[in-house]
Amino acid sequence: MDRSRHLLSLMAVSVLLASCGGSTEESTTATSTAPPAAMAATPSLDEVINAMGMADVDSLTFSGSAWRIRNSFRQTLRASPPWPDRDEITNFVRTIDLNQPASFARGDTFASNLFLDPPVAGTYIQNIPATQTSWGQQLEIWLTPWGFLQGAENNAASISTTMMDGEEYTMISWMSPEGQTAPSGLRYTVNGYVNDDNLVTMIETWVEDAFMGDMHVVGVYSDYESFNGLMVPTVIEQQRGGGGIFGVEVEAAAANPADLVALMDYTPPAGGGGGGGAAPTDITQMIADGVYLVTAGYQSMAVEFSDHIVVLESGQSEARGEQILAEVKAAVPGKPIRYVVNSHPHSDHTAGLIPFVREGATIVTHANNVDFLEMALSTPRTLLGEESMNPQFMGIEGVGVLEDDTMRIDLHSVPNLHTDGMLVPVLPQQGIMFQADFTLPVAGAQANPFVVTLANYVADNDVQFEQYIAVHAAATPQTRADLLATIGE
Ligand SMILES: [Zn+2]
Repeated sequence: MDRSRHLLSLMAVSVLLASCGGSTEESTTATSTAPPAAMAATPSLDEVINAMGMADVDSLTFSGSAWRIRNSFRQTLRASPPWPDRDEITNFVRTIDLNQPASFARGDTFASNLFLDPPVAGTYIQNIPATQTSWGQQLEIWLTPWGFLQGAENNAASISTTMMDGEEYTMISWMSPEGQTAPSGLRYTVNGYVNDDNLVTMIETWVEDAFMGDMHVVGVYSDYESFNGLMVPTVIEQQRGGGGIFGVEVEAAAANPADLVALMDYTPPAGGGGGGGAAPTDITQMIADGVYLVTAGYQSMAVEFSDHIVVLESGQSEARGEQILAEVKAAVPGKPIRYVVNSHPHSDHTAGLIPFVREGATIVTHANNVDFLEMALSTPRTLLGEESMNPQFMGIEGVGVLEDDTMRIDLHSVPNLHTDGMLVPVLPQQGIMFQADFTLPVAGAQANPFVVTLANYVADNDVQFEQYIAVHAAATPQTRADLLATIGE
């Protein structure tokens, strides 16, 4: 158990609760750590705004190079931070109109993926128009030093002192307006930490996240330089889930750019239309005695043991998880779901775990994933207006086995480049492998290195099965022979 992580989340919770109470308790912090006599007085908001060169700033633009976490948050090789794999964004330019508020950023990037396909050149766009009022989007503005101070002016900020890493900081706190609240009705809290030079070095807020609960989002700002009086951190990093997910190295910046309208001009590409057909009604089939496949979405399996059920994979969203749960209960009535097996920790393979955790099922996952998933699923869910959860885990290394007199599931840890926390279930009696993301190539195409890894694992370890069933449904039935054909066997 990682002690520092628990301290961090405890701190996050106490700050959140203190701010939710209306009248703040922050003075407790200030009085209990009386500053030494030589210490400078706590600055006013105006003094911080002046030190930041912000007194007459309505908008700003900055440019340089940026990076973002490869693939995206919670799609990393390793579940727990740090996440060193990054995609570079060159020619990065971001412009913020503080009065709207609105923000627009653009850059050139190369999208890589976790299947080691060749990177594809693309454009990075982050567009937060004035009409966008969701906190999850707007926090990208409030989390910048300039947006933060604008928010502090607009929202009756409170100022106190606080300790962080053994040093004293001025803490400026404010809450979102009455009309801008979380699903629970709680207002959002934003805290900024100001150093001795009255520069904003860290800003944090919390936003509801269906998986992460009250998700802590942090902006870290260092190496300030003056650009014609505007103070700009030349190193910027945003953190979620305890690790960096986006950063900028600033090379140029300007306040009140004359070409503000042109800098912010952006027409989003037309939407894709979407809209599927009617939802199929009969989505669960028995594919072997006591083995049920739930289709029409990320596929899932229910495996019936003598006095309980094991569910393999829980769907790509909380709603899909609910649907799978209901399907499993209807297919195998009267038995508890004791285990839910998670193939790997990526966001689209874990979102559906939530209904199963509430149901009391133990999450069976690769041991490498336990720390991160436990942190995420144990985080309070106050912004969502939901009860906290108490997730239970079984961490697997090597080959794990779930079995009783009637049924057996082997859980193979397969080391690979897509994730370091992958389990591939095999039902030896029924001859079924149920895998996530090891998608076979279309006829004639080269298999990606990730599929080759599994094929080699199966060949080297003589793993026997007939049917090769995918979480991402294949158009036609596939077999062990199809998998081995990718390595010429
Ligand atoms: Zn994946």
